[in-house]
Amino acid sequence: MTYYCHTCGSDQPHRQPRDDRERDVIRELAQKQKPNAFVDDYWICVSAERDCRNIRYAWSTKPFEAPHKMPEPEE
Ligand SMILES: [Zn+2]
Repeated sequence: MTYYCHTCGSDQPHRQPRDDRERDVIRELAQKQKPNAFVDDYWICVSAERDCRNIRYAWSTKPFEAPHKMPEPEE
């Protein structure tokens, strides 16, 4: 899904959270602002040009006061 990315400053491909770890990251961020936030309404930038991973909301390019990047899995 192509959405505008606030951090990239342009339209970029985005994906939805893909596992429980990512859903937990988003849930924690989202619930500070919206107690009943639906996690799958959040999208992660997968720009081919840079390692962005900025998280946006389906209806808001900048849902959080500061941009939040999806962390890499810990191995
Ligand atoms: Zn981006």
